[in-house]
Amino acid sequence: AKELVRVLVTGAAGQIGYALVPMIARGVMLGSDQPVILHMLDIPPAAEALNGVKMELVDAAFPLLKGVVATTDVVEACTGVNVAVMVGGFPRKEGMERKDVMSKNVSIYKSQASALEQHAAPNCKVLVVANPANTNALILKEFAPSIPAKNITCLTRLDHNRALGQISERLNVQVSDVKNAIIWGNHSSTQYPDVNHASVKTPSGEKPVRELVKDDGWLNGEFITTVQQRGAAIIKARKLSSALSAASAACDHIRDWVLGTPEGTWVSMGVYSDGSYNVPSGLIYSFPVTCHNGDWKIVQGLAIDEFSRKKLDLTGAELSEEKELAYSCLS
Ligand code: NDP
Repeated sequence: AKELVRVLVTGAAGQIGYALVPMIARGVMLGSDQPVILHMLDIPPAAEALNGVKMELVDAAFPLLKGVVATTDVVEACTGVNVAVMVGGFPRKEGMERKDVMSKNVSIYKSQASALEQHAAPNCKVLVVANPANTNALILKEFAPSIPAKNITCLTRLDHNRALGQISERLNVQVSDVKNAIIWGNHSSTQYPDVNHASVKTPSGEKPVRELVKDDGWLNGEFITTVQQRGAAIIKARKLSSALSAASAACDHIRDWVLGTPEGTWVSMGVYSDGSYNVPSGLIYSFPVTCHNGDWKIVQGLAIDEFSRKKLDLTGAELSEEKELAYSCLS
């Protein structure tokens, strides 16, 4: 039998957490042959609700679920975990200054970084979902210096999947036949959804998305803004932010990272920049990556046209500014 894997979900009593934990317990994240123990963390005001989620997990009788730890103690939550999905964070509330929100999240991610560094299993893989996701991940990295930078990532897979979804709707093709979109940069409205290298499987072979869509105006305009603003559109429709799609994307992110991307396919992940594509190094920036044997690698050598260059730089500049703001909260 496979060795047990312990998966931490922070903010587990929240919306995304509620959608995510059953997916993990069903094997959507790590495979239908992978037994798991779920570690769920939330803050004391959410402790009762968290216990309710635990009760439901018991009631669901998931065959792969070998145990549940539901706690408000960050050390207990982090102990021995192999995968950490950080969904808990301080939400933006109306009237709050950006700096105040940043400051709350910096202190949360600083303390969770230390707990993970000291108590998680060696080689623990970390995925940050809570916003500002890229910068929270960067803070986590800075305050957990013994966790290799390659193990700390943030979620842009939902944006990536949204891009595939929009192309699939537009062309009336199966979403599983669309691949190699790219989300560059920040998980914010400055992200750049790029389909210049994306393709669609057709009966006569793989065809570039641009050739099939035949409408650069749409691809350079409405397509980009639709993906960038999809989160807001869902809030407007549902009166709640996206949760099932965010949870599903978190599973896709970890699954591809651990089990590998298919040959010829890349995905988008927020990872520690090494300066590829002239993106400033030292930021957590979303790149196209392939994964093999549990490690990601940035796809190299893609042509970047002038339109794209501007957009890569713009979202990079926003991230540099967020980084500065986060650091100013430390002092
Ligand atoms: P959600 O579960 O809806 O969202 C959790 C986080 O994910 C938010 O920061 C949200 O950002 C972010 N997020 C990132 N991408 C997406 C996306 N595509 N769609 C939606 N959200 C996205 O929030 P809830 O308020 O329901 O739950 C949060 C939980 O965290 C609560 O149970 C709360 O108790 C806990 N919490 C934990 C803290 C801690 O660990 N110290 C501190 C504060 C809260 P955005 O806000 O921009 O939507």
